[in-house]
Amino acid sequence: MAHSLIIFWHRRDLRVTDNAGLTAAREASPKIVGVFCLDPNILQRDDIAPARMAYMIGSLQELEQSYAELGSRLLIIREDPAKGIPGLAAALGAKAVYWNLDVEPYSNKRDRTVSQALKEKGIKVKNFWDQLLHPPGAVSTGNGRPYTVYTPFWKNWSRKVKSEPLPSIPKCEMVMNLDWAIDTSPIPVVPLPSAKELGFVWEKPLILEPGEKAAFAQLDAFCNVGVFEYNDLRNFPGLNGTSRLSPALKFGTVGIRNVWNRSTIAWEESRSDESRLGVRTWQQELAWRDFYQSVMYYFPELADGPYREAWKNFPWDNNPEHFQAWCEGRTGFPLVDAAMRQLNETAWMHNRCRMIVASVLTKDLIIDWRWGEKYFMQKLIDGDLSANNGGWQWSASSGMDPKPIRMFNPATQARKFDRDAEYICEWLPELSGVNPEYLITGKIPVEERDRCGYPDPIVDRGKNQRLFKELYKRQKEEIVEQKEIG
Ligand SMILES: Cc1cc2nc3c(=O)[nH]c(=O)nc-3n(C[C@H](O)[C@H](O)[C@H](O)COP(=O)(O)OP(=O)(O)OC[C@H]3O[C@@H](n4cnc5c(N)ncnc54)[C@H](O)[C@@H]3O)c2cc1C
Repeated sequence: MAHSLIIFWHRRDLRVTDNAGLTAAREASPKIVGVFCLDPNILQRDDIAPARMAYMIGSLQELEQSYAELGSRLLIIREDPAKGIPGLAAALGAKAVYWNLDVEPYSNKRDRTVSQALKEKGIKVKNFWDQLLHPPGAVSTGNGRPYTVYTPFWKNWSRKVKSEPLPSIPKCEMVMNLDWAIDTSPIPVVPLPSAKELGFVWEKPLILEPGEKAAFAQLDAFCNVGVFEYNDLRNFPGLNGTSRLSPALKFGTVGIRNVWNRSTIAWEESRSDESRLGVRTWQQELAWRDFYQSVMYYFPELADGPYREAWKNFPWDNNPEHFQAWCEGRTGFPLVDAAMRQLNETAWMHNRCRMIVASVLTKDLIIDWRWGEKYFMQKLIDGDLSANNGGWQWSASSGMDPKPIRMFNPATQARKFDRDAEYICEWLPELSGVNPEYLITGKIPVEERDRCGYPDPIVDRGKNQRLFKELYKRQKEEIVEQKEIG
């Protein structure tokens, strides 16, 4: 009996192992062809980081090889998916197209259009949840509503049984006349371009090598050693204390079930309360990832602006020169500047520093958090709508978390987490000869600043924070008044 061809459409699951949709496709038929669509709607956006593109293209190169090893092919198209996926599926005579679902508003809209077009052509569609440990809806409040606060979400989420990693998929069957179908397809199949050919230039090393093999090796290395010390080391930006798996989790070069499985093995191997705490704390970060994605799925309006009322018309100062100084690491606050230079140099920033620079941008420079959110997306290798938006709204206090005003003092943070100013000096080498005490407190004598060519602080933080609190109070009062009048 001849088997039907199934197309598997890869999006943010650039791997062949532990892939829910691909495994299901392979179970349904031995004739599988993979497709990746370089979507102009995404590539033309103005918030695409070159390093993210470099990581994605490198991962697709490896995925092409993985398909070849399976006896099949990964086809690349450069089209609007609404036209490209149904057009290619019809040209290849596919009976079905399978893919894994995503939570982002654009993806959901796109998927509905593609599904509709495929069904009109008589081609079946099958979708799966793959990128989360518990898909949206699986963890909900007693009333069946989505959680909007992390702690109760975590309590419920952590009690739920997690799926095991999926077995490797067997080899595929050759698809007869595939080359002929590709040659005559109205949707051109193109060679995989380089990131540079797509207009994105990133020539520095990436914090994680692209592809499934490197992601798995990194997961293994971290779960063999680093995870046990995670609770102690994760807040020190100068140490290599976190997994650095974020690009892999963004693009799905590693399966989340495999990640969880490795963490549970580490839990079983833990020999002390301290190492168990390390594993547990890391698992809590994986839950944050699930939380922010679930929140984005149920409240897609978050992608367009603040969740909390008081922030909708907040009178931000939005001084463009201050913003530029923040972007370039020239604010005169050493820890902030070091972090921004780390971001600009490596396309990655330590989590603690992400919180600090976000707090300084919003509460000290009084600049709209959406400016920072976009700048992060333009730079980060792991830039992800849900995590980035969640992180920014958390830092700006505009999100769901009820705690109203969260302010990080870079000097207190440096004293706690960069005691010897090693991180500061790594990214601001011009400050290397300066007494670490000055760098931590930020109170660098004028002559030292002049000698190093390091700027004075661009704002008086104390004054601006008082102003910020006043603006916030007024904004809240106005809302209450409007509600009463209304
Ligand atoms: C303002 C701000 C913006 C952020 N933007 C992003 C972003 O665009 N993409 C992104 O992946 N993370 C983002 N984060 C979360 C976090 O900073 C990164 O996930 C983390 O630094 C990545 O390093 P790691 O892989 O070594 O993390 P680890 O500490 O090893 O954590 C393991 C994984 O858990 C997930 N994770 C950890 N913390 C969070 C979190 N707070 N929210 C959601 N997921 C988390 C990530 O997938 C991470 O790779 C942001 C945080 C803030 C405060």
